[in-house]
Amino acid sequence: MNEKEISLRRTFAIISHPDAGKTTLTEKLLLFGGAIQVAGAVKSNKIKKHATSDFMEIERQRGISVATSVMSFEYNGTLINLLDTPGHKDFAEDTYRTLTAVDSVILVIDSVNGVEEQTRKLVEVCRMRDTPIIVFVNKLDRDGKFPFDLLDEIEKELKLSLHPLSWPINMGKEFKGVYNLYDSSLNLFTANQKSTEENTIPIPDINDPLLDERVGERDAGQLREDVELLQGVYGDLDVQRYLDGKVAPVFFGSAVNNFGVKELLDTFIRVAPVPQGRYTDKRHVEPNEPKFTGFIFKIHANLDPRHRDRIAFLRVCSGRFARNTYYKHTRVGKDVRFSNPYSFLAREKDVIEEAFPGDVVGLFDTGNFKIGDTLTEGEIMQFTGIPTFSPEIFKELVNKDPMKTKQLEKGIQQLTDEGVAQLFTQHGGNRKIIGCVGELQFEVIQYRLLQEYGASCAFMPLSFYKACWITGDKKAIEDFARFKQANIMQDKDGNLVYLAQSEWFLNTERQNNPAIEFHFTSEFK
Ligand code: GDP
Repeated sequence: MNEKEISLRRTFAIISHPDAGKTTLTEKLLLFGGAIQVAGAVKSNKIKKHATSDFMEIERQRGISVATSVMSFEYNGTLINLLDTPGHKDFAEDTYRTLTAVDSVILVIDSVNGVEEQTRKLVEVCRMRDTPIIVFVNKLDRDGKFPFDLLDEIEKELKLSLHPLSWPINMGKEFKGVYNLYDSSLNLFTANQKSTEENTIPIPDINDPLLDERVGERDAGQLREDVELLQGVYGDLDVQRYLDGKVAPVFFGSAVNNFGVKELLDTFIRVAPVPQGRYTDKRHVEPNEPKFTGFIFKIHANLDPRHRDRIAFLRVCSGRFARNTYYKHTRVGKDVRFSNPYSFLAREKDVIEEAFPGDVVGLFDTGNFKIGDTLTEGEIMQFTGIPTFSPEIFKELVNKDPMKTKQLEKGIQQLTDEGVAQLFTQHGGNRKIIGCVGELQFEVIQYRLLQEYGASCAFMPLSFYKACWITGDKKAIEDFARFKQANIMQDKDGNLVYLAQSEWFLNTERQNNPAIEFHFTSEFK
């Protein structure tokens, strides 16, 4: 039973540098899946939500989306779970965590801008788990970089092996379409149209004069040359190497014109991995195991002040999740059950009775969950692979209203459980240091502490370079912690962290303390 459910599912995320076309592509995929009816719905839906709360108003003004959400839809009998990720770099950590809950990604690259800053970081995170990647080169209707140059740039800059499955015929005003190398067909470009049968012409033999007829002799000649070169260099796609995260198929298209999107989706459901197993601190869990397991990868606060509950996003890893059934919350050792778990099918929040590996379930939470928490049918274990990365900016939390100390403590605890920022508490002391990726996060924290907890705070900038989790010889760590008291903190789980003032300091400490290891992430092998 489970095998069948698993084989029907694909759980993935679209990642890109902001403005490459992630939202546009998402919308087109949802249109194909029938999850929305009209173009523009994805964005207008966002704006409606923004208007309902002041906090979201901040987002609207800044034109970013802080929240990641899940969109589930069916396409040709396949159940697709698309996990959205915030594009803004200040919320990158949120994106990294979401990537632990997917089995593959589609990476959108702007053909004009090529590889950009966020692209690099996101691909690095994918590489940590060998997540299979499909590349979609977008905006072929604009004059971008030449396709061979782009492939070169992507391969070099992202250290990815690529395998083009489609090839563009010109670009910009001269863009005529793409030749699909996977099933040897020609797709003629028509702006702003749904791809129709007429525009897709099978041309199994690239030397067929039909090609000259449709795109002109000159372009047909160029395409033949290109395809010959591509075939020589790349040969046939080795799907297993893609599944192992070793090679990334590439498609070319124009999301806003809905061009090349169907080919991408059709190939995606054919080759993309079905829900995969995950590691725990005890063992590897396979999706087809009969007993249910899952983990929380995201917690979303309900921004409506009348309803304080939060939504925890659970990725089902194995077995079958059922409504109103007791499961073990392994970190706290308690049994918990959920009467209103919901799915994210087609924008409706539907209460569901069951869910299978690869599915994401929304659970109402009154503050019991932290990111990374594990639910099982009783087995005590914890899913791993959800590392915390060293923040970039550090500030000390200053209480501005001594009457509200309790509220502040509670608020900062809950916000950091949600993963809004990282909290470091002085080892053996009371100082609280907040670590973030971007300034915007501090503003959000300050705002939310006031709005949701009635606590006002300020932040005092600190000039730390990195947070390093320290491991190694017990005695050496004890000594080090004593000598460096002012720089030793505890993270939310009580792990010891050394805050280094600069790279130079860090290197010096590394040299002086050979028995201690310094790590930039909270999880290490
Ligand atoms: P995101 O920030 O990655 O989600 O990017 P969006 O989907 O919001 O797109 C950014 C901008 O690029 C918008 O103005 C889109 O209309 C535009 N855009 C998206 N796809 C294409 C395309 O294929 N061609 C052109 N010319 N513009 C596009």
